[in-house]
Amino acid sequence: MTKKTERILQGLREAYPDVRCELNFETPLQLLTATVLSAQTTDRQVNKVTEVLFRDCPGLEALLALSEEEIAQYIHTLGFYNTKARNLFRLFRQLADQFGGEVPRTMEELTTLPGVGRKTANVVMSNAFGIPAIAVDTHVFRVSNRIGLANATTVEETEKQLQKAIRKDLWSLSHHLLIFHGRRCCSARGPKCEECGISQDCRQRQDEMTGRGEER
Ligand code: SF4
Repeated sequence: MTKKTERILQGLREAYPDVRCELNFETPLQLLTATVLSAQTTDRQVNKVTEVLFRDCPGLEALLALSEEEIAQYIHTLGFYNTKARNLFRLFRQLADQFGGEVPRTMEELTTLPGVGRKTANVVMSNAFGIPAIAVDTHVFRVSNRIGLANATTVEETEKQLQKAIRKDLWSLSHHLLIFHGRRCCSARGPKCEECGISQDCRQRQDEMTGRGEER
């Protein structure tokens, strides 16, 4: 890991000492469910929905007892709730039928579940099981490519480059730090570069300051 990458991560750690997964959960199944629900919506909205859903149905047995329509009723305030309800209905059954009622721990197995792609699988592996992983969501993609930790046009390539740039034991922490920074400072439309604690090491900021950004 380069000195610059170390400085960037240290700067983010100082800016966000309370960094953590912002989805509320108590079990791997709850995290998996919440992460499937979080596509195209905020963690805050998901937490509101899961507070009621997990209170009424804390485990797989109770979740399996819900019909697709009942799941949809619980989550109807979220975007794409019909698709998410269909995915969860099938996902709970697949967990029971193929995985003995347990959430699997590997990328290969997790991504066989309905509504679960690489990003969701990485979030579950890292936050539920402590397996080093970097989930690249919209914030991680935008922020890491702005800073220069990655220089990629796709999510997959960004994930690979971040895995190379960052020490493995820091992958999960870095994922959370980049999300926090994207939500609180380096937003899509109005990044607060004047207040940013890592602007000295940010490629986009330095390019703008030296006029190189306009040449790209
Ligand atoms: S300097 Fe600006 S663009 Fe760079 S990481 Fe900070 S907020 Fe984002």
